[in-house]
Amino acid sequence: MTRTALVAGGGIGGLATAAALAQRGWDVTVYERQSELRAAGSGIYIWENGLRVLEAIGAYEEVAEGAFFGTHFEQRDHRNAIIESSPIAADKRLLTVLRSRLLHALKSACERAGVKVVTHAEVIGATARGELLLAGGKTVRADLVVGVDGVWSRVRQSLGLELLHEQTREGALREVIPARPGDFDPQDQGKYIECWNGTRRFLITPVNETQIYLALTCMQDDEAVDLARNRHLWIASFPEWAHLIERAGAASSWGVYSITRSRAWSAGHAAIVGDAAHAQPPNLGQGGGMAMQNGLALAVALEQAKDARDIPAALEAWEKAERPLIEHCQRWSILYGEVTYLPDDVRSRVIRSAMGDDWVAGQVFMAANSSPTGTTASQGRRTPASLEEIR
Ligand SMILES: Cc1cc2nc3c(=O)[nH]c(=O)nc-3n(C[C@H](O)[C@H](O)[C@H](O)COP(=O)(O)OP(=O)(O)OC[C@H]3O[C@@H](n4cnc5c(N)ncnc54)[C@H](O)[C@@H]3O)c2cc1C
Repeated sequence: MTRTALVAGGGIGGLATAAALAQRGWDVTVYERQSELRAAGSGIYIWENGLRVLEAIGAYEEVAEGAFFGTHFEQRDHRNAIIESSPIAADKRLLTVLRSRLLHALKSACERAGVKVVTHAEVIGATARGELLLAGGKTVRADLVVGVDGVWSRVRQSLGLELLHEQTREGALREVIPARPGDFDPQDQGKYIECWNGTRRFLITPVNETQIYLALTCMQDDEAVDLARNRHLWIASFPEWAHLIERAGAASSWGVYSITRSRAWSAGHAAIVGDAAHAQPPNLGQGGGMAMQNGLALAVALEQAKDARDIPAALEAWEKAERPLIEHCQRWSILYGEVTYLPDDVRSRVIRSAMGDDWVAGQVFMAANSSPTGTTASQGRRTPASLEEIR
């Protein structure tokens, strides 16, 4: 008999989860509160682990077409001098793309797998019996419900799974601007460039041949948050990039980061995935990758549930297997962000020595270099450092 699943939230994690379940024979319906499936934010980094997940669910080709594959990830100091310039190895891919393109590719994978999407549908809660409660009073029921409804997850809250939801003092202005010839000096072509100055950071990310994604990060109480009025502050911090900063501000959106921790990722026939369960600050560019990776892992784990009664145990096994890596990634993303508070010269020394240390680099890139459950490589390839090491 076909098993049924209801997914709350049609973002990156929700669509990846829905596609992976439907590809394994589930009858899946996604409930999304917006009037259409729409990506919030501008561009996104997807590391090797996330790309393998996209390959596994058949969304990779569409994402990769025309996307930007950088050759180096570079950190620079307050004088625009290079702190570290790390080449991106061919077998450890990193791609940057518009979020709208990623979401479209995931939506296409869902459509091919027969996933149904209901928009204008706000979920206000869930039960461990496999029910989703919708605004307006309707309740829908299935063998499984999955809350992938973001950092303010009503599913997480209503199931009593929330341990912590913390918002950081730091946040980001994000925007995509048109690229122009001469934007980059010849030696800067093909690079992702992250510049630091005090508690301000300027991240320059090409997303295709014609567009550049800019992220300007600072503390919430910094006047620079008002980019339109205080553009001069950003230009004073990053004068070499004034030509890009001048082009930003028309459509930039400000948001602080969230960290969520959950008592457990499931209760009976209900589970939570993505930012709902394990949001992290974006310092490692892995929140979306972890959401997609964990959605696929959930679908794979449920292959062990031969009967609907086996679902709670399969969900517990899924959490046991996946949680160590995801929490490791969350921890190191938080830790990486701490350099923000160091004086400029100290920060440069810390970044240089930390990233030059094999052990530290191994921890930072543990998730990126992991072999996600359900991907082809995971059958033959091990995560570089053993999972025992991160427990
Ligand atoms: C500044 C910044 C930069 C980032 N950069 C990167 C990056 O480069 N790479 C990366 O991998 N990650 C990045 N992230 C993290 C990434 O954006 C998130 O981890 C990812 O979007 C999580 O996906 P999700 O599907 O769990 O949640 P979301 O993307 O938040 O999707 C949740 C969906 O649920 C819907 N929803 C919410 N509430 C309800 C409800 N009650 N009922 C129905 N629907 C609901 C929402 O409308 C939305 O569509 C970044 C985050 C920030 C803040």
